[in-house]
Amino acid sequence: MIRVGINGYGTIGKRVADAVAAQDDMELVGVAKTRPNFEAETAVSKGYPLYAAIEERLPLFEDAGIDVAGGVEDLVEASDVVVDACPSGIGAENKSMYDEYDTPALYQGGEDADLVDVSFNARSNFAEAEGADHVRVVSCNTTGLSRLLAPLQEEYGVKKARVTLVRRGGDPGQTGRGPINDILPNPVTLPSHHGPDVNTIFPDLNIDTLGMKVPATLMHTHSVNVQLEAVPTAEEVRELLGAESRLFLVPEKYAIDGAGKLKEFAMDHGRPRADIWENCIWDQSISMEDDDLYLFQAIHQESDVVPENVDAIRAVLGAADREESMTRTDDAMGVGF
Ligand code: NAD
Repeated sequence: MIRVGINGYGTIGKRVADAVAAQDDMELVGVAKTRPNFEAETAVSKGYPLYAAIEERLPLFEDAGIDVAGGVEDLVEASDVVVDACPSGIGAENKSMYDEYDTPALYQGGEDADLVDVSFNARSNFAEAEGADHVRVVSCNTTGLSRLLAPLQEEYGVKKARVTLVRRGGDPGQTGRGPINDILPNPVTLPSHHGPDVNTIFPDLNIDTLGMKVPATLMHTHSVNVQLEAVPTAEEVRELLGAESRLFLVPEKYAIDGAGKLKEFAMDHGRPRADIWENCIWDQSISMEDDDLYLFQAIHQESDVVPENVDAIRAVLGAADREESMTRTDDAMGVGF
């Protein structure tokens, strides 16, 4: 059994914890939290051992009547791998602690690429993470783009990708984020950070990205144009993408017109937290104009990186190859509609 600790139990950490607990080759050692808030209560109710991320705050947990199994260093020491799901920048501060206990660590997309040995996407570069001490599971948007570009690159070759990312202003729980009534070019200069981030996975890929921010919380939406070396039909592209386990081609007959109905669909399917782990590509948007592929995809920012974290755990330990790991992860979580 692979012993996994989760440091940072917020939006990403709590989802990764559940996904790890669902794997039959992994044991969740526990989760570290800074505050005894509702998420600490959730961890307790699920029976996950809770560790105090900041030792001086132990009394806060005691006052809240929450039993704590120890401090975060105990968690790191007891784990074969730690998933750091702390807010952006805190992972970098934690790095020396993971080194001290010789525990490999996975960080999230909010950390800088140069913090780590490898930036990771399961479909695109699984094997590169084997034996690495510090691995970054790339952001929600970069994960969504990498999953899409990997099969296109392998099958047809990519001359150039051009993507406009229409990004949600904040997650549903992020009440302080915005905009609440505007449409922002964000950043207003080119490129947005997403293109260079995709290049941490595909160093030679030619990609330009533009970002916008809108008053929405549910999902991101990408308007994608990929100029291909070989020229397939739209139908051939549909078949290629439809065969990928983490790409969901939204059928026209479902009449799903946006993120709201996608989330309804996820809830109808009993998805935990209405999560959508797959890229949602509108089937009828897939079009070829000469050598240009066009499509729209929606990305659920809070959950698409979750199966990737599970795979990264096996990847760093060399516990499985890409195909075996992705299949195990998907089967245990129920990925695929
Ligand atoms: P979050 O704020 O929801 O959760 C972070 C958790 O870490 C919180 O519970 C916070 O209390 C806790 N924390 C703060 N300081 C800590 C410390 N020193 N030790 C341990 N825990 C600490 O943030 P999130 O959205 O889960 O983001 C985490 C990382 O994942 C970031 O790098 C972010 O960029 C990345 N990410 C976020 C999303 C998203 O849409 N939410 C998507 C992909 C990647």
